[in-house]
Amino acid sequence: MTPQLITPPRRSLADLGEVIGPERLRVLRATADDLRRRLGGRTVWQVNSTATGGGVAEMLQVLMGYLADAELPTHWLVVGGEPEFFEITKRLHNRLHGAASGPDLTEADAAAYARATAINATAVAELARPGDIVVLHDPQTAGMASGLADRGVTVIWRCHIGGDRRTPVTDEAWEFLRPHLRAAEAYVFSLPHYRPEFLPADRTVVIPPSIDPAAPKNADLDPATVEAVLRACGIFTGGPAGPARFTRRDGRPGEVTRTAKLLADELPSPDEPMLVQVSRWDRLKDMSGVLTAFAERVAPGGPGWLVLAGPQVDDVGDDPEGAQVYAECQAAWQALPRASRRRTVLASLPLEDLDENAVMVNALQRHAAVVAQKSLAEGFGLTVAEAMWKCRPVVGSAVGGILDQLGDGRGVLVEPSDAAGFAAAVRRLFDDPAEAARIGDAAHAFVHREYLGDRHLLRWAELLGRFL
Ligand code: UDP
Repeated sequence: MTPQLITPPRRSLADLGEVIGPERLRVLRATADDLRRRLGGRTVWQVNSTATGGGVAEMLQVLMGYLADAELPTHWLVVGGEPEFFEITKRLHNRLHGAASGPDLTEADAAAYARATAINATAVAELARPGDIVVLHDPQTAGMASGLADRGVTVIWRCHIGGDRRTPVTDEAWEFLRPHLRAAEAYVFSLPHYRPEFLPADRTVVIPPSIDPAAPKNADLDPATVEAVLRACGIFTGGPAGPARFTRRDGRPGEVTRTAKLLADELPSPDEPMLVQVSRWDRLKDMSGVLTAFAERVAPGGPGWLVLAGPQVDDVGDDPEGAQVYAECQAAWQALPRASRRRTVLASLPLEDLDENAVMVNALQRHAAVVAQKSLAEGFGLTVAEAMWKCRPVVGSAVGGILDQLGDGRGVLVEPSDAAGFAAAVRRLFDDPAEAARIGDAAHAFVHREYLGDRHLLRWAELLGRFL
């Protein structure tokens, strides 16, 4: 299967400069110029297995856009595979997060995985030249490392996932990947303790992701546009709907024309507080846990609505569990008592037009009085950083990267098993807008300092520089 070349729209560094200020922009440009010189005609390739849906694709869309504007020679390739391959990599993904799913990994799985990744390595090796640098993302591509290294390519493996505690299934997944990882020259994780012991610490770096303040996902939207977008996609009803216009990543004007697929008895009123969680339909995001905590402990006796939003299932090609998890949430929703069910909405956002999908997420996060990220495990929650950027108070699980993101009063941390604590935090923030605003402001300032594109690119430039 030929890898697909993805070319996201160019993102303007000058626009980023408006947010980070002239000094940070100057450092960024100087670093990019230096890196370009040192690359001396070599190309940096990013390789993953999906162009849409989920944090990795989201981040590459942004990063590639900025790298293009910095005129750095870099390309993004998406490799494919049969459903059997993605079924294996999903089991690996869940295990690396510490969660068992599906049957144990067998020798037959190892053989199928090695076969599929060898085919992809051969295909990418036809494009990359010796001396080029290939960044392989996540378990779907780890098996390509030796095939590429054999052809004189420098391989870096970037793992976006990890669990806080080692469990037998984590070890099982690492043992599965271990023989494939030897050929990589450096390893990148979002958190230091995600590195398995067998990978050398001196060849491992920690690089948290970043968000793009100018992208449709995060760009400023005035309250009228937020409301218009949420009417256009069907989450609000009635009243005069203004045009749901936004600016696309390539700078052209866009308008929301598609609607979300909704599971709801009634639709929320724009005037009541809303709790929002945006996630893929993945068990580790615990969408059904948010649903029951809200229905049992927030809805009775208080105001407010819950919207759980995720991508329309079938659309995230490397995530075969999505449809199943959505079906489970649907069943959980149907089983709720009607009085609280009527205050909850499951929204599947269309993915045909990524900018349109992004502006729907943006509007939901901006409208939210409180944003939830009740994950059971999380490397770095992009959705958390996105909501923090929008000055939203986030109630998140005290796991993985969320601990760093929401610590020190930048959000509210609760244990993932503590439904009562989760609901109490939501209710408190619904009732206390001043406290919510204080947390939201601290959250925004932290993202401004730590998680914007310049910080991310500088960390990558430093790593790539080691090989030039
Ligand atoms: N996302 C989206 N549309 C959706 C659901 C999710 O654009 O319908 C985005 C979300 O805004 C975030 C990313 O997908 O940018 C999810 O990244 P995160 O790190 O939170 O979780 P992951 O999916 O990588 O586990």
